[in-house]
Amino acid sequence: MWGYPEPVSRLVEQFMKLPGIGPKTAARLAFHVLTMPQEDVSAFAQALHDVKTKLTECQICCNITEASPCPICQDSSRDESVICVVQDPKDVMAMERTHEFHGKYHVLHGAISPMEGIGPAELRIRELLQRIADHPVQEVILATNPNVEGEATAMYLSKLLKPFNIRVTRIAHGLPVGGDLEYADEITLAKALEGRRAL
Ligand SMILES: [Zn+2]
Repeated sequence: MWGYPEPVSRLVEQFMKLPGIGPKTAARLAFHVLTMPQEDVSAFAQALHDVKTKLTECQICCNITEASPCPICQDSSRDESVICVVQDPKDVMAMERTHEFHGKYHVLHGAISPMEGIGPAELRIRELLQRIADHPVQEVILATNPNVEGEATAMYLSKLLKPFNIRVTRIAHGLPVGGDLEYADEITLAKALEGRRAL
């Protein structure tokens, strides 16, 4: 970073804020940007800007969307009585790719992780409880990741949901333990959904 012209070192610093990008990679990327055509650089900058300004959280399911309520929440052909709870927006896409789930979603935006200082208050749990209180459902499927944080979150939610007297299920194992939902192939994920068990 040192010794670079100021705009370059500023760009290197920005790239280093991305996950998995160290100083060497950041410098390589920054110098690559210098060789890119002006229109590509502008499109890149615009895409970065738009992803924050043009997206919002769905007021119902908390998924990221261009317009709230999101297309899934607005889709009246989907079963409103079943809510699949996932950690991240990417997990909604993973579930959708299975074509096996026809209910609605709720996106927590993370999982309980004391190590990372993420408690229930940091997740969209309040929104989930309010949603179920306003529009009672028959089943909540807990599809958090099959790792320590995901399991802890599922356990926590199942206790919270007890008083609502609804069927609370957890997607089956068979998913690689310690893995992320988003990396599971469609068949494995569809099977995990099919083999879900009551908590
Ligand atoms: Zn939604």
